[in-house]
Amino acid sequence: MSLPRPCLNHPTRLVRGGSYCAECLKANERKRGTTSQRFGPGWQRISREVIQRDNGICHICDLPGADTADHLQPRNGQRQDTPADTAELAAAHRACNSAKGAHVT
Ligand SMILES: [Zn+2]
Ligand SMILES: [Zn+2]
Repeated sequence: MSLPRPCLNHPTRLVRGGSYCAECLKANERKRGTTSQRFGPGWQRISREVIQRDNGICHICDLPGADTADHLQPRNGQRQDTPADTAELAAAHRACNSAKGAHVT
């Protein structure tokens, strides 16, 4: 059981099970720029769908165990907030994906 403690940034706000209030957590997320942040909240669901569709086979090395989805079309400087379509995505290993040059962390 965790007792409510004040947020490290907002001493007047009590938080349960953490060191920061919801607002601070959101701000932290934004700073880190996670994949889900970059592609919007639907990204995790979409990548899971793509991985399932491809049976977890990485389209780069053809081995199973893919844990992310990769854009098939090059995103030359084009920032997409939401992937248009799962047809443009393929399952991939995070490691393979970043080895390719597209840095998804
Ligand atoms: Zn806070
Ligand atoms: Zn791979």
